[in-house]
Amino acid sequence: MTRTVLISGAGVAGPALAYWLRRHGFAPTVVERAPSLRTGGYAVDFRGEALDVLDRMGLLDTIRALDTEMGDAAMVDADGRQYATLPAAVFAGDLEVLKGDLARLLYDATLDDVEYVFGNSLAGLHQDADGVDVTFEHGEPRRFDLVVGADGLHSTTRGLAFGPEERFVRHLGIYTAVFSLDNYLGMKNTGRLYAAPGKAANIFTARGNTEARAAFHFAAPEGLPYDRRDPRAQQRIVAGRFADEGWEVPRLLTEMAASKDFYFDANAQVEMDTWATGRVVLLGDAGYCAGPPSGRGTSQALMGAYVLAGELAAAGGDHTTAFAAYEHLMRPYVAEHQALGREGAERFFMPTPTQEILDMLAADAPENTRTERIGLRDYAA
Ligand SMILES: Cc1cc2nc3c(=O)[nH]c(=O)nc-3n(C[C@H](O)[C@H](O)[C@H](O)COP(=O)(O)OP(=O)(O)OC[C@H]3O[C@@H](n4cnc5c(N)ncnc54)[C@H](O)[C@@H]3O)c2cc1C
Repeated sequence: MTRTVLISGAGVAGPALAYWLRRHGFAPTVVERAPSLRTGGYAVDFRGEALDVLDRMGLLDTIRALDTEMGDAAMVDADGRQYATLPAAVFAGDLEVLKGDLARLLYDATLDDVEYVFGNSLAGLHQDADGVDVTFEHGEPRRFDLVVGADGLHSTTRGLAFGPEERFVRHLGIYTAVFSLDNYLGMKNTGRLYAAPGKAANIFTARGNTEARAAFHFAAPEGLPYDRRDPRAQQRIVAGRFADEGWEVPRLLTEMAASKDFYFDANAQVEMDTWATGRVVLLGDAGYCAGPPSGRGTSQALMGAYVLAGELAAAGGDHTTAFAAYEHLMRPYVAEHQALGREGAERFFMPTPTQEILDMLAADAPENTRTERIGLRDYAA
């Protein structure tokens, strides 16, 4: 029976998997590169069956208490005049929370019986018939029965076990920057969005209207040269792209430069023929990122964690059987979300949407929710 599982990444998928593995009697260890839990970031939403998973974790009521309760947002022009309403149904899902709040909740729910190691990363993997020898950037090597890469879009586990990022990551042609700031516009459970050809800026309230999150999005081909570990250089790129824009953009650029939790990355998807090789398997964005325009990444991470742990338990720890069942169940669900992600990205390049189009998207949202069902098994944890 498989017992020890190393999980790389304490975002959403990693702690959720650790939770379910513990309930099924496994011994997970989570290693996270960041020095402590990453609690900043944007709002994420849950749709469809992911809410059932939260319910089965006993976390649904707590999560509902953290709901951003986001209302409709205003589409504004360069002079700040509202020309259309963006219905909340388009962007806030069935339930929306700050990603940092979700990460904290999942971490707290697993802290007592899961080993967490912060400030470290996998450096090497070597597997044989009985286990995986893992080396780390710091400290002694260790041996585990299985290794799960839940380390996001730029997964180190994927790089070590499957090959370089370029083989699997498909750029969607958009870059996004996100940061926290004061709710200086005094908004209440709403946001404002300014769109110009090939670029958009927005600001939304957060944490009971005491804070806000702002974002810049712009079109650019793959391979924009920048150092992923140099936020100042990334901010200069954003500032250059938005230098001549109206509305609140100049103020938002100033706020961005002063922000403490700046995030910048390409919108991308991960496409792989298989998510498992031997005793190593990928979970969440690392294996099948659908891209921010899909609005489904968090749901995928939670669903994937539930199914992967459940199938391992159902197979009595036989990873070959379990990984095959996990892929079989998750593939159609992921394919649908990746299609949504590509459609969402295409809309970014179209002319600014009219009210009619926005209303159509809102009317479609419940339909999307209904079709996203894989039929959750009860793994009797
Ligand atoms: C701007 C933006 C908006 C989004 N909006 C939504 C939304 O509205 N709805 C939605 O459902 N999803 C949304 N998403 C997607 C969502 O955030 C992700 O799909 C989801 O967080 C995936 O979870 P994950 O655990 O797989 O990866 P992540 O949350 O990225 O977690 C990966 C973790 O691995 C860690 N890590 C990385 N490398 C290593 C390493 N070498 N060793 C150890 N740890 C490592 C990272 O520090 C991180 O903590 C959005 C994403 C972005 C970027």
